[in-house]
Amino acid sequence: MDHNLSLYNSLARMKQPFVPLHEGHVGMYVCGPTVYGDAHLGHARAAITFDTLFRYLRHLGYKVRYVRNITDVGHLEHDADEGEDKIQKKARLEQLEPMEVVQFYLNRYHDDMKRLNVLPPSIEPHASGHIIEQIEYIKKILEAGYAYESNGSVYFDVPKYNRDHPYGKLSGRNIEDLISATRSLDGQDEKHSPLDFALWKKASPEHIMHWPSPWGEGFPGWHLECSTMGEKYLGSTFDIHGGGLDLLFPHHECEIAQSVAAQGHDAVKYWVHNNMITIEGKKMGKSYNNFITLEQFFSGEHPLLGGPVSPMVIRFFILQAHYRSTLDFSYESLQASEKALQKLIETYKRLSGLQPAEKSSIEVADYKKLAYEAMDDDMNTPIVISYLFDASKIINSASAGEIQLSKDDIDKLKELFDIFFIELLGMNIGTDIEGGNSAKAYEGAVDLLMEIRKNAKAQKDWATSDLIRDKLNDLGFDIKDTKTGVEWSVK
Ligand code: ZN
Repeated sequence: MDHNLSLYNSLARMKQPFVPLHEGHVGMYVCGPTVYGDAHLGHARAAITFDTLFRYLRHLGYKVRYVRNITDVGHLEHDADEGEDKIQKKARLEQLEPMEVVQFYLNRYHDDMKRLNVLPPSIEPHASGHIIEQIEYIKKILEAGYAYESNGSVYFDVPKYNRDHPYGKLSGRNIEDLISATRSLDGQDEKHSPLDFALWKKASPEHIMHWPSPWGEGFPGWHLECSTMGEKYLGSTFDIHGGGLDLLFPHHECEIAQSVAAQGHDAVKYWVHNNMITIEGKKMGKSYNNFITLEQFFSGEHPLLGGPVSPMVIRFFILQAHYRSTLDFSYESLQASEKALQKLIETYKRLSGLQPAEKSSIEVADYKKLAYEAMDDDMNTPIVISYLFDASKIINSASAGEIQLSKDDIDKLKELFDIFFIELLGMNIGTDIEGGNSAKAYEGAVDLLMEIRKNAKAQKDWATSDLIRDKLNDLGFDIKDTKTGVEWSVK
């Protein structure tokens, strides 16, 4: 079947038909995590959005090179050129090597992504592993005349660049408004203009993470890594650059300026941004005390949660909204998602038990075609999900014997669920969607057996007490009687 995939391009501010630069191949770069803390719902939304796009492009037959970077250097406080690097701060506070901090949180990030059934990208480059490339990139910008050295740091000259190329074209801002919104320089500043941003920062003596450069010991500015690694792994022009809407300005705007300055042309054909998550109507942030990490979702340990939430419920909840809409989280809305997902899983299981009739007693719509059209329309996953529910009604009626379905129709419905529910929406229904709730139930049940055994022993009912111990042993439990009671674990 023909596909006319359209994607909303933040640069053009419209949906555009997706035509890759090289036939059959797609290069996609997505700004990955900054690894100085646990991932939260915002990270999950970006990862799941671009995972779904990655899955769909592959499903359409493209060979996709998906690059998602790891920001492990140069990410300063408040996204500005001042303040301490967050990884360094963590390392100093916890007396760790900075790379220990990076590895610790990166391992946790990977665990979270695996649980959310987010496929690993093709390449996951670290900023710290590309210092030489970043220095070379700065040299190109200096040669082009759009940067200057100042006291051991190198800054991008935004006003000069803006005279030749429009700065702000991605976010729709203009330099005059930006200047009036910025504090003026105090004369001591190394920058020529408050809009200038660091390409290279001189390291102060207490700075742990620094590298030699033609401008002295220092470290690269945050925006630079993405321009550099994008070019290195995807070429000077590539198809898709993605990330959260919060990165549009200044991060992606600065990336555009850097690549135009260094290469003479734009690097990215389609800019794709996923919208933000709000928590009960409020912006997510530590100051609002509504900052829930994925670990806290999985364990249920947060005052805003009534219990553990399965990773698949989070994935489904995120895909129930279009990626360009804001998504408001509340525990109630997650519970509604859990119920909805449970229904679809039950339907999916019923599908294999359906007995085909000679011919269908109703006309079944071509849901597969409709669902493809929804995916082609800027990845409209909520509409895909609505077709799955429409199909569910038919499957459930057939399962209850109210209607008959032909083998052909049953096969089509199976295909619909296999392609859209399992493959593209990425529902891993093998996992327990009730998450920690059932883990709690299981622990409670074994504890109850221990209680019964204890009572049996107290009444010298050795037969019951031995039966419980032996049967649990057979099931793979290790039961130990201790002085204070009993301990159990799974062998
Ligand atoms: Zn980036």
